[in-house]
Amino acid sequence: MKYLIVLAVVMAIVWFVRNNRRADEPGKEKPRQDTLEPPQDMVQCAVCSLHLPRTEALPGREGRLYCCAKHRVHAGD
Ligand SMILES: [Zn+2]
Repeated sequence: MKYLIVLAVVMAIVWFVRNNRRADEPGKEKPRQDTLEPPQDMVQCAVCSLHLPRTEALPGREGRLYCCAKHRVHAGD
């Protein structure tokens, strides 16, 4: 009878841990999706046509954008 009680307690712990993991997994994945969801404004380098986020682009003259300072110099801006 003692063993049955121990077995029941172990089964209860295993069940409890499994349920907690299932509850945690979607919660952990959701914030990751949220960080990816906001659409980033992508722009194109005027020299090499590389696509990059507007926040990382270097602005040049006449609204042109560049991926790096080297390409901005190359374009004469
Ligand atoms: Zn470039």
